[in-house]
Amino acid sequence: MKIKLDRTRCDGFGICARHAPDRFPLDDWGYAVLAGDPTLDSAEEPAVTRALLDCPVHAITTLPEQERPSGTAP
Ligand code: SF4
Repeated sequence: MKIKLDRTRCDGFGICARHAPDRFPLDDWGYAVLAGDPTLDSAEEPAVTRALLDCPVHAITTLPEQERPSGTAP
């Protein structure tokens, strides 16, 4: 799973930071920052998914998986 944080939408509620503090540290003004690689490992997915679902302004979204070249098996 790959995620994106749109900081222009973030209102700084800090809910994501409570669910996944290592991934969503807050800056000096209380707005979330996406830390690390946007591609998550499976251990991170439950907490980050909770953050995504609970963000009141939908600032956290998933990115589509990379397209595979046509004709290749998944
Ligand atoms: S939950 Fe959403 S609005 Fe709140 S700090 Fe995180 S990204 Fe920003």
